[in-house]
Amino acid sequence: MQQHAISGSTSPRLSRYFITMTDIIPTADLPSLPIEGDERRFPVRRVFCIGRNYADHAKEMGAAAEAIFFMKPTDAVFTGSRLPYPQATSDLHHEVELVLALGDGGAIMGCAVGVDLTRRDLQGAMKAKSGPWEIGKAFENSAPVGLLRFGPVPERGKISLKVNGVRRQSGDLSEMILAPRRVLSELARYFTLKPGDLVFTGTPAGVGPLQRDDRVKAEIDGLPPLEFTIT
Ligand code: MN
Repeated sequence: MQQHAISGSTSPRLSRYFITMTDIIPTADLPSLPIEGDERRFPVRRVFCIGRNYADHAKEMGAAAEAIFFMKPTDAVFTGSRLPYPQATSDLHHEVELVLALGDGGAIMGCAVGVDLTRRDLQGAMKAKSGPWEIGKAFENSAPVGLLRFGPVPERGKISLKVNGVRRQSGDLSEMILAPRRVLSELARYFTLKPGDLVFTGTPAGVGPLQRDDRVKAEIDGLPPLEFTIT
C-alpha cells in the first residue's frame, strides 16, 4: 500500500507516523518486548491473564480457587523504568506473575517476569456489581514486563516481589493450580492463540498497595528481574 510520511510537521512525535491514503488517523504504535541477547524485539499481539491460579492468593481475596480468564489491551504493556501512578484509583496493587510469550501455533517461545497492576478499589466495585473487570485491570501501563528469555518454561522456582527492598510476595511456580501448559490448553478452548500473544499466569499471596516513589523489584528464579519505580 502506498504510504506517505507526514512532512513539514513541527511535531517530533507525529513525524514518526505514516498515514496511508485509506486510514484517517495514524496507526497505533504497538508495544514490543526486549529479548535477552537479541537486538530484535518481540511485538505484542494480545495480553491474556489468568486470575486465582495460586490457592493462597485466591484465599486472601476471599474467592474460590477456580481459575478465571481476563485480558488487558496491548497498550497496557510497559517496558520502561518509571511508571506513572494511574488515574482514578487510591488502591493500586502489585501482582507478580510469570509471563509466557507465544510464537508459531501458540507454542511457548520464552518467558519473562511481569506485574499485573490492579486498581483494586475499582475491581472490587465491579465484583460487587458482578460486572466486568476492565476498569480495574485493563488501564494504560497496567502490564509491566521485563526482559524476555527464550527457552523452556520453568515449572518450579521462587517467584517474589519486593517494594523498597521489603519482601511482599513470595511463592513457588510449582504452586500454580493450572501449570503453564494447562493454562494454554484451557485458553485454547476459547481463543486461537497466535504469535505475539502474552499470557500472565497468576500471582501468589501477598498482593498489596503501591504508592508514588515506591521501587518495585519482581523476581522469578532463572529469569531477568523486572524493576520499576512508581512516579
Ligand atoms: Mn493477576
